[in-house]
Amino acid sequence: MDKPIDGGSGNTKVSSNLDFLVPSVTMSISQEAQRRKAAGEDVVNLSAGEPDFGTPRAASDAAIKSIQQGKTHYPPNAGILELRAAAAQNLSLLSGGRAVNADRIVISSGAKQSLFNACFSLFGRGDSVLIPSPAWVSYPQMVHFAGATPIEVQGDIEWSLKVGVDQLSAAADSTTKGLILCSPVNPTGAVYTRTELQKIAEWAHENDVWLIADEIYRCIHYGEGPAPSVLDLPDELLEKVVLIYGASKAYAMTGWRIGIAMAPQPVTKAMSALQSHTTSGASQPAQWAAATALSDRKVEAEMKKMVEEFGKRRDLVVEFFRTRLQGVEFVEPMGAFYLFFRVDQFFATESDTALTFCEELMFEEALALVPGDAFGDGKWVRLSFAASEKDIKKGLERLERYIASLR
Ligand code: PMP
Ligand code: GLU
Repeated sequence: MDKPIDGGSGNTKVSSNLDFLVPSVTMSISQEAQRRKAAGEDVVNLSAGEPDFGTPRAASDAAIKSIQQGKTHYPPNAGILELRAAAAQNLSLLSGGRAVNADRIVISSGAKQSLFNACFSLFGRGDSVLIPSPAWVSYPQMVHFAGATPIEVQGDIEWSLKVGVDQLSAAADSTTKGLILCSPVNPTGAVYTRTELQKIAEWAHENDVWLIADEIYRCIHYGEGPAPSVLDLPDELLEKVVLIYGASKAYAMTGWRIGIAMAPQPVTKAMSALQSHTTSGASQPAQWAAATALSDRKVEAEMKKMVEEFGKRRDLVVEFFRTRLQGVEFVEPMGAFYLFFRVDQFFATESDTALTFCEELMFEEALALVPGDAFGDGKWVRLSFAASEKDIKKGLERLERYIASLR
């Protein structure tokens, strides 16, 4: 799983740019599960990292209207002003009305491209970038594309697999140029508290390290209000921060491919110039849809309902693990829509990893989950509860049966 793709040989060998390229495991497992389902197999797919809900109607209508009005030409590179302004206002409201300037916002084709642009604009050869582990699959890849070196920083098992300043300090050296911090965390669902975030941001500031704060799951939070954000911190800590946000997860808009980055202006200018040569900005109708999603009060209410629904499913999954899967360690999810649980006690041989567990689970019970190998820790497995209650219940029963067969 962790092996780079075969880039061919001789005349047809692909460039060394792709030396570390591994296709996205999260994407491929979910697509394989969908393929099997379409072929008539009774597969339960709890691997997908995307909401099962439809996009709120008002957002879709805004895109249709934009097409009918002929807003189908190249958008400005940094994004249409209406979306940049809506994003700035949305972020401001989430952080108690703090001033957010639309000039510091750049829109890209999905938060994935926002993250790629940030990494490519800030890091290069000789630089290293700290990535708290377990981490979402694409971060190390993006750092490699920039020619820099990703350094995994193992999270503390006693602390929901989160990292603190001690671990960061131990992993940093003179080449450390950046830190990519995700909260709520994919794949664990852990959430950094405001105090924890502040300590990490202070550490980054003192050490002159760029902090890329991936807050794509910020509104999917099971505590009070949205999850704590770098935007809740004092101004001086934001000098070298790139905030990543978007409509994909909370607003059920994964397929529209809209990502949002907020950064100091030289960086947004660089990111915007970079995409002027690669994508010419995100699809214009999709930007109109996102502008409505981030500013319309009805959509906001729908978004909150979806989050409430995720909360119910989360409770169901946690309760199942507590009562029916006793002895299986898991991180209690406080945000996002993932539950991360530990499976190494079930390994039959030394070479087994979560990948073996998930392959067998698919073979025996037709249940698709993502092995922690994809996130840098082969002892754990990620279950997504962004699925219907019926599928979640069916999936959990299959998991219980499979685990019982291993005990
Ligand atoms: N960051 C994290 C942590 C994610 O899980 C995802 C999911 N794809 C992304 C960024 C990218 O989001 P998008 O679909 O907007 O590209
Ligand atoms: N982010 C989601 C996940 O972790 C979607 C797939 C992807 O973009 O990697 O499953």
